[in-house]
Amino acid sequence: MKKRIMTGDRPTGKLHLGHYVGSLKDRVALQDEYDQFVMLADVQALTDNFENPQKVRDNIKEVALDYLSVGIDPTKTTIYIQSQIPQTAELTIYFLNLVTLARLERNPTVKEEMKQKGFGSEVPVGFLAYPISQAADILILKANLVPVGEDQRPMVEQTREIARKFNLLYGGDLPAGRQVFPEPEIKVGAVARLVGTDGNSKMSKSLGNTINLSDSEEEVEKKVMGMYTDPKRIHPTDPGTVEGNPVFIYLDAFGTDADQEQVNKFKESYRKGQIGDVEVKKYLVEVLNKFLDPIRARRAEFEKNPELVEEILKEGTKKARGEAEKTMIEVKKAMKLNYFD
Ligand code: ATP
Ligand code: MG
Repeated sequence: MKKRIMTGDRPTGKLHLGHYVGSLKDRVALQDEYDQFVMLADVQALTDNFENPQKVRDNIKEVALDYLSVGIDPTKTTIYIQSQIPQTAELTIYFLNLVTLARLERNPTVKEEMKQKGFGSEVPVGFLAYPISQAADILILKANLVPVGEDQRPMVEQTREIARKFNLLYGGDLPAGRQVFPEPEIKVGAVARLVGTDGNSKMSKSLGNTINLSDSEEEVEKKVMGMYTDPKRIHPTDPGTVEGNPVFIYLDAFGTDADQEQVNKFKESYRKGQIGDVEVKKYLVEVLNKFLDPIRARRAEFEKNPELVEEILKEGTKKARGEAEKTMIEVKKAMKLNYFD
């Protein structure tokens, strides 16, 4: 039997280059070898967008198109909508007992996001608890592998702790390997955390520093030409820094093998102060547009056929719900909640 992958994205905006190198690329590569489930995390998106349900709804369609356009194949991968699997909410309730408030508050990603969103002391409980419902998303499908960006490492760690605790408490006499939940492994992408166009350490939908997979050639050009580079460099004749410079990070991440020689030459000249930012940026525009062209073409095909996209989501959601129902029967049995069996 194939091992299972579970991962997903929040429908809070269009997917960007960070999503590609952090997770989407792995999903495309692994969909033959694994039984893969990819979730549109609308419930999680609502934890910090609860006053804006229309935004979340609109982005379900956008993110689904992003998936299909990068080559996630619905005949190999199950794409589904989180809110339509109510069994996950039920499992979350049981998991809430297994995690302390102190443990949640120690989660470094939650800490950072709370600061970024400016909740102050008014943190919605749903937001603080989202790692627990995320554990339920992963475990209800009994996933073995979770391909995500670096910022999700603490979430997968917490998921493993919950699985371990559940198995220990309720696994009873089940032998190892036949426990209710597997402890899933994390797989971080080729670039664990892609920088933003503004130099912020993470390209992120909510920071407005993204290059989207659906951006037009003109949008890519405009964003790249306005990109942050080496802040200490004023004139093209000043020696520049390549390491940590977003323009060179993107060239390394999205250039093909054929671009490598040119990129190396640019790096050398940049260090010596023999080339201006503009010239390197123009090259990056070319590289990115070449990378995005096939993605744009596939997107245009699916955009012409919204009924097909809807059908893919409907079928995928039905399949995921079936799997979740099966797990909950086992969970309730293990927890002695199967009164009427
Ligand atoms: P939001 O700002 O709404 O949280 P986001 O841009 O962080 O959006 P998510 O939907 O939260 O995107 O993340 C989806 C997946 O993409 C996660 O696995 C996350 O780790 C990965 N990811 C997001 N941004 C990056 C990035 N800049 N580099 C690498 N991986 C990323
Ligand atoms: Mg995020």
